[in-house]
Amino acid sequence: MYSELKGKAAFVTGAALATGIGFGIAEQLAANGMDVLLGDLAAQGGPLEENCAALRRDYGVRAEPITLDVSDAESIRAAVENIRAFAPSLRALINNAGINRGASRIGEYDAGLWKSVLDVNLMGPFLLTKALLPFMERGGTVVNVASRAGKRPLPTCSAYSVSKAGLIMFTKCLAVEYAAEGIRANALCPGQILTDMNVKRYAREAAAEGCAPEETMRRAIATVPLGRIGTPRDVGLAAAFLVSDASAYMTGQALNVTGGQITEL
Ligand code: NAD
Repeated sequence: MYSELKGKAAFVTGAALATGIGFGIAEQLAANGMDVLLGDLAAQGGPLEENCAALRRDYGVRAEPITLDVSDAESIRAAVENIRAFAPSLRALINNAGINRGASRIGEYDAGLWKSVLDVNLMGPFLLTKALLPFMERGGTVVNVASRAGKRPLPTCSAYSVSKAGLIMFTKCLAVEYAAEGIRANALCPGQILTDMNVKRYAREAAAEGCAPEETMRRAIATVPLGRIGTPRDVGLAAAFLVSDASAYMTGQALNVTGGQITEL
């Protein structure tokens, strides 16, 4: 669909889970002919390789795994060598890896867990973007996967909400600082997407309320004007648009992918 992307290289973090948003994004980039590097923690190495094999088989593109911890500068330094070996320059960096840990009200929130969420969700994209900016091609783009929680607070998830609000502002800073070099930056703000992260959340809420997870999910769907939970493919399609020339005049934006749950900017 976006022919200008064919043969260009993209790096997507947090792409080990076949059910996750990262792989949903990688699939849509590969469907447009992009060569893709899939990054994730070493512990997720097996699924990472399987996902790469699936992309090679289904789309005929190059796809390789990169193990890294986005919150660790040393790990990023090692990964950059491998990224450079895969492609001399990147058309797209997708900062997707993210966590939500320790959910509780602020008064009870464990400080170590709070910091760990900020380290992965905010420091991670900063460290990785800083390391890869010298290898972004002119016309290249950074897509940061934020969240609707970065615009509206998610109760008991202050670390997550703050990290995503910070990521949206990081995106805007990046956009204005690097526009002159032809590098764009935009954020995606998904609503409720059916991945492991949300399946766990429905189960947690159900356990707290003493009802079935199907009930918490049914209530979640009722809050979405389009009447369904989103899919990783929905987010992937929006990411491909942001990487393509179809969004050439867009930078510094935070695009909602929420089925209408959020309508403000
Ligand atoms: P997920 O838990 O299914 O996948 C996240 C991936 O990130 C995992 O494979 C995990 O191993 C990886 N990861 C975690 N810490 C890492 C680290 N330090 N270094 C490298 N990789 C690491 O999550 P998901 O639901 O697919 O979410 C992906 C992104 O989308 C996250 O940033 C999340 O905050 C965001 N998001 C998700 C939803 C949703 O409804 N699922 C909604 C809004 C935003």
